[in-house]
Amino acid sequence: MSTPISRRAFTGTLGFAAGAAWLDVSLARAAAASDRAPGKPGPILLNSNENPYGPSPKALAALVAANPVANRYPDGAEDGMRAAIAKHHGVAEEQVVLGCGSSEILQMADLAFTGPGRKAVAAEPTFEAVLHYAKVLRAEPVTVALTPDHRHDVGKMADACKTDVGLAYVCNPNNPTGTIVSGDELRRFVSSVPPATTILVDEAYFHFVEDPSYRSALDLIAKHPNVVVARTFSKIYGMAGLRLGYAVGSKERIDEMAKYATFSNANAAVLAAALASLNDPDLVPRQRTLLNDSRRWLVAEMTRQGRKTIPSHTNFVMIDVGGDVKPVIQAFRDRNILVGRKFPSLSTWLRVTIGKPDEVKSFAAALQEIVPAKAAA
Ligand code: PLP
Repeated sequence: MSTPISRRAFTGTLGFAAGAAWLDVSLARAAAASDRAPGKPGPILLNSNENPYGPSPKALAALVAANPVANRYPDGAEDGMRAAIAKHHGVAEEQVVLGCGSSEILQMADLAFTGPGRKAVAAEPTFEAVLHYAKVLRAEPVTVALTPDHRHDVGKMADACKTDVGLAYVCNPNNPTGTIVSGDELRRFVSSVPPATTILVDEAYFHFVEDPSYRSALDLIAKHPNVVVARTFSKIYGMAGLRLGYAVGSKERIDEMAKYATFSNANAAVLAAALASLNDPDLVPRQRTLLNDSRRWLVAEMTRQGRKTIPSHTNFVMIDVGGDVKPVIQAFRDRNILVGRKFPSLSTWLRVTIGKPDEVKSFAAALQEIVPAKAAA
């Protein structure tokens, strides 16, 4: 195994212009964390697409029970987790690699498949990590604008995938728009990309989707060994603070990525909690119903107020505020409500994470004060 290159290796390069967008994400998260200081009345956190309901009770019990293994390296538990994930998806263990959150998975994919002369293709806007790490690695980023209805333009993305493209990133559903690529579109895209290009399909929000046209790219791996799927325990499983993600793909691509994994990148406590989550059959449907119902309430309320939203299949939604979103974000902050950052190519759209019903109601009431509905229409 070659020496893993940790995320720490990159901290010295963050001054590089490529780091700006990612730095924005990190600074926003750091600010949010300082707002969560003990003793301070917490803000309403609708900014990072976290799950307000947290982990499964079974996962919490497993965390406590993990105490006796705190002094042991997690190697055996990592193997057990990979086996459990492999069983969950009906693939071989060697087709699974774990990451410290799916962020590490995205970084591994860049390390394995991009670099000077090996470009990275992604939609604009999309989740920033893949293009961020690609730029740090001096890989040329190629961005393809979303369609007018804010969906991946998979036809144009396929055209952009020439032989010098090492990695094509499809975020499905997409962050920040919440839109999906249908199963048919994905199949056509995968069939038209050169086999040497790795297609990374980020399914961080997979569990929220209820649209019957949607399909996981996991179904495509057997026929297309260049497809890799990233998943996370941060969203529906409510474990963003614990950090666990994984990738599933062909042995060949997973081996390439695993070379860059940090040694023992999954801690013993998170492994115990994640295993318990996978073994809690009620968790995913329960969280999906709670959060999707809140999203439907918010979208209906926004529509009632005459505001435009982007149809979302996730635990967040974009709302058009009719002008620059930056002062709106600040006005929410002044009211102790944290909302998503500005996405420059969608500069009038506010991304709000779905919280508990009372949090979503507080958001809707504050929006009426900050941008009264008539001004937005
Ligand atoms: N992928 C997408 C699309 C995301 O929105 C996020 C986080 O918000 C991540 C990956 C990274 O999540 P984590 O590293 O917590 O798994």
